[in-house]
Amino acid sequence: MKLVDAHVHCSELPDDELINYARFNGLEYNLTELLNLMEENDVELGLLLSPPIRGGTPAPNSRIIKLCQKSNDTLFPILTVEPYEDEVFLSMRMAKEYKGYVKGFKIRLGYVEIFPDNAVYDSLYDFAEAENLPVMFHTGDTATSTGSLKHSHPLTLDAVANLRPELKIVICHFGNPWITDVAELIYKHPNVYADISGLVAGEGGRYSEKYSDSLAGKLSDVIYFADGADKVIFGSDYPVETYSAGLNLMRKLKIDPEDVEKISWKNAMKVFFPES
Ligand SMILES: [Zn+2]
Repeated sequence: MKLVDAHVHCSELPDDELINYARFNGLEYNLTELLNLMEENDVELGLLLSPPIRGGTPAPNSRIIKLCQKSNDTLFPILTVEPYEDEVFLSMRMAKEYKGYVKGFKIRLGYVEIFPDNAVYDSLYDFAEAENLPVMFHTGDTATSTGSLKHSHPLTLDAVANLRPELKIVICHFGNPWITDVAELIYKHPNVYADISGLVAGEGGRYSEKYSDSLAGKLSDVIYFADGADKVIFGSDYPVETYSAGLNLMRKLKIDPEDVEKISWKNAMKVFFPES
């Protein structure tokens, strides 16, 4: 089965905060390993997002571009945009400089204490609409115990989607544990999608197999509610989740093969690679 992974992290920086997840999953967490794993699992394309580094900031976007350039057109960059005017300006400048190469933006709701309809992002959303670039939003549980759940709750995206029907929005991690809220968002808004990345972190726990079954049941219910999987996108969140865990979850979905194909690659191509 062909796959596109819409949510991958890597920095190769020593103070990368995801190193702990990588160790837990027995991963080396570097570009070579990632590209090998992608090939082994038939993942043809991936979107690379900045991981957090110590101190709470994301790894620089320039680093993400550099790693993508070393990947032989396997990985493409998503620029992480922090909520400051100069950061918004710089990320748009970078997207212009690498036009066609940069495939979207990412906003870290819950790690930054800001709601997505804050005016600081207005120019970014204008730009993203004009360039047909999606904006990804971290939602749901935060990897640190100090994250702000009020800000990472997916329902805050309803206001943005109401105001901006042309903006392509990708809700990361299906808003977990607020999966039913995200079901309504993707059903209600034609341009709102959700990725299933990083849902099965921490394999090997006492209830991990039961949890994976329960998630597969919930996601299948979402797909019945939305009458199909047109808005659901595969992602791993490497190194937070392994391909074996992510693909195992996909296999458990009780849906038609055509919907599996949409989740595996078709929806990601439509959202991130509309020109191809
Ligand atoms: Zn992630």
